[in-house]
Amino acid sequence: MSSNQSAPHIGVLAIQGDYESHAQALTEAGAIPSLVKTAADLTGPNAQPLDGLVLPGGESTTMLKFLLPNNGRKGFFDELQAFVQSRPTFGTCAGAILLASEVLNPTQPQKPQRSLAALDITVERNAYGAQADSAILYLETTLSGGPLETVFIRAPRIVRTGPGVKVFASRDGFPILVGKGNIMAATFHPELSQDRRVHQLFVAKVKTFQASHSFHTGDI
Ligand code: GLN
Repeated sequence: MSSNQSAPHIGVLAIQGDYESHAQALTEAGAIPSLVKTAADLTGPNAQPLDGLVLPGGESTTMLKFLLPNNGRKGFFDELQAFVQSRPTFGTCAGAILLASEVLNPTQPQKPQRSLAALDITVERNAYGAQADSAILYLETTLSGGPLETVFIRAPRIVRTGPGVKVFASRDGFPILVGKGNIMAATFHPELSQDRRVHQLFVAKVKTFQASHSFHTGDI
């Protein structure tokens, strides 16, 4: 854990997807990002100690291929799961799918999709239609500062939220930005907009976690 309270170190899972835009957005929101490509980047002896983590959008099945052991290659699903259970983590789009406790895959209902099960929500993959149906909408949120630009790209839909899951914004009655405890999830891509309120919300969550952790361990 970093002891620099003003600028938390936040990792960005960098297997596939738009991780570079997240790193840029985190910098603009006052954090120090670092790319996490392997388990060693997360928990290895030379890893940058991370105060939080972002799981970007992309394709959740592709990410899982790299995370789960595959054809003799070691994955790092277990290390990632241990991390997200203990530190603030923000998943966007495919990242939200990875965090969900239940993943519905309407085109292949017989094939259950693994997930980190860190947030008690059910998501339905690609629920808003094909790539052509991707959209940019301006939606009301519980954040101050007016409507938020929300970029949806083959987005999942959150069809159930468990007890205690807070909803910060919705689209057509379905939650699109949620959080509980240390975990946040968005079904859109806040990193692709100029508005940094969503990343600032996550950075604030990481700082709160950092402060309470330092207090409890006495390392300030
Ligand atoms: N359709 C992707 C999936 O189901 C998510 C899309 C995205 O992250 N933009 O994994």
